Amino acid sequence: MLIKNVSILHSGQLLPGRDILIEEGKITKVGRDLKDESDDEPIDGRGKLAIPGLINGHTHLAMTLLRGYADDMELMPWLQEKIWPLEAKLTEEDVRWGVKLGCLELIRFGITCYSDMYYFPDTTAQATKEMGLRAFLSGVVFDMKPELLGQVEPFIRRWKGDELITPAVGPHAAYTCSEETLLREKEIADRHDAMIHIHLSETREEVDGFLLSKGKSPVEYLDSLGMLNERLAAVHCVWLSPEDCYLLAERKANVVDCTVSNLKLTSGIAPLNTLMEADVNVCLGTDGASSNNNLNLFEEMKVTAIVQKNAYHTPAAFSAEQVWRLATQNAWRAFRLNLGLHAGALADLVLIDLQKPWFCPQSNIISHLVYSMSGGVDTTIINGKVLMREGVILGEAEIMEKAQERFLRLTS
Ligand SMILES: [Zn+2]
Repeated sequence: MLIKNVSILHSGQLLPGRDILIEEGKITKVGRDLKDESDDEPIDGRGKLAIPGLINGHTHLAMTLLRGYADDMELMPWLQEKIWPLEAKLTEEDVRWGVKLGCLELIRFGITCYSDMYYFPDTTAQATKEMGLRAFLSGVVFDMKPELLGQVEPFIRRWKGDELITPAVGPHAAYTCSEETLLREKEIADRHDAMIHIHLSETREEVDGFLLSKGKSPVEYLDSLGMLNERLAAVHCVWLSPEDCYLLAERKANVVDCTVSNLKLTSGIAPLNTLMEADVNVCLGTDGASSNNNLNLFEEMKVTAIVQKNAYHTPAAFSAEQVWRLATQNAWRAFRLNLGLHAGALADLVLIDLQKPWFCPQSNIISHLVYSMSGGVDTTIINGKVLMREGVILGEAEIMEKAQERFLRLTS
């Protein structure tokens, strides 16, 4: 497949008139006047910008079904009174259509890979593969449902080595899993070189609880179990001490910031400038659509930059370039993926239509992507396959219809 005459970004500048050659799921050449040996019709890239596909570092994708179902509540009552009772009724079919609905949204927001923790991970994996996305998937584990722990390793064995799906381990949080459960999960992750995906230090109550009961912060507690390393994706990390930040840096753990979800649930604002000064690898996620309420990483970038400026009382904190780096290079590092527009990288890329008023005048394109992007994702390609072309995704209407049916069943 050949993309002709597209613009690409180089050191923040727009380079027009480039061709991108894709063969067997990889980018094989980027340059001028490239030829394609295949019979595929080339994609006309004129007026468009190619960027590497984005990674959404934290989702519960099937929760798209619960979008708008319970808003404007605090985290614990929201979970206890609304989300958990509804989740108790979830079936595999609900998850299948919730995941497909989520995939549609990801494709439309230029997200080619997501990292998820939820129920029915096999169904999530199948539905994701059918949709053609790349994903790091883990089945959620907590002690209230002890049967979930036993399902972790069989799931990993089934999906290990898959082209698109990378299985991971997903203890819900340090306050919902016992020490024994966490250690068991760590052992499985170590054995399979898998990532651990966990909610960490999300609320002040969580941290206060640990300090009182264990004399340690949740970060120090996980460290005492040997769980902080480069395969850890610690989600939220809102309530961190400077010592926690340095400990995460020293252990090379990754932090996934979910600014919008944290603001909506009033959990707080993560100390991202402190984390970055400590040299922690921070990337971005949206969290589930029931606490965001969309999966839009562009919106996440803008809100994150603006909120961090306010948290540190200076507009100089967090530039557009910095937040763009969180969404791209830092995410590639956290998930150990070879992405980017260069030969040898995975052919996960997105074409953005620059003929939109919010990209005009064409000056600082990274600033436009972070601060003014309001749509324009035109084409999404994953693993060398076109999943959306000129804004059209095949089968979209049917998926939305099924998702609506599942929502009505769940809430009836
Ligand atoms: Zn979450």
